[in-house]
Amino acid sequence: MRLLLMGPPGAGKGTQAKVLAARLGVPAISTGDIFRANVAEETDLGVIAKRYMDAGEYVPDEVTNDMVRERLAKDDAHDGFLLDGYPRTVDQVKTLDEMLAEQQHPLERVLVLEVDRDELVGRLLKRAEVEGRTDDTEEVVRRRQEVYAEETAPLIEIYHQRDLVVSVEGTGEVDEVTERVLTALSSRDNAG
Ligand code: ADP
Repeated sequence: MRLLLMGPPGAGKGTQAKVLAARLGVPAISTGDIFRANVAEETDLGVIAKRYMDAGEYVPDEVTNDMVRERLAKDDAHDGFLLDGYPRTVDQVKTLDEMLAEQQHPLERVLVLEVDRDELVGRLLKRAEVEGRTDDTEEVVRRRQEVYAEETAPLIEIYHQRDLVVSVEGTGEVDEVTERVLTALSSRDNAG
């Protein structure tokens, strides 16, 4: 299964990505996690990424695209993957299309987690207390929501036009959301 997981910052993508990937038997590939690992190890990529992440801005497309290209070329991603947090721009959509065309494996589903705006900001501020992510301050959280609305929300329409979107309500307990997603995916599969 080749799946994208989309939704605004705070929708629970990271949490669901790990659980869903395990249930579906594919690797969860999170660009946010890869960037954070690079920041922690102070690699060249991490040094670049940190500047953007701490401001709530997107890391430039060339940097992100190269990183994802490398990751998708690994063996474990050959038979499927769940991409969390990529693509986020029109340029990234095009690049992903090219990568998948080379592999001759089309995208199968785009899962959109829907959560309303007030709940999102509350969740992120709470996460800031628990995890201490440097991009979870109130100002940066608001900027991330804006960037999402401007750059990433429009991508959902692109995937709607390709008839790939499955939307799921992301509020409630983690387990409930997971079951909701798996049910939505299988009923979509049965419907063709
Ligand atoms: P969230 O979805 O909660 O904002 P992520 O962990 O997915 O958090 O991403 C954290 C940060 O990493 C983003 O704010 C951005 O700076 C960077 N990032 C992650 N994925 C991408 C991407 N596809 N393109 C550009 N920047 C990205």
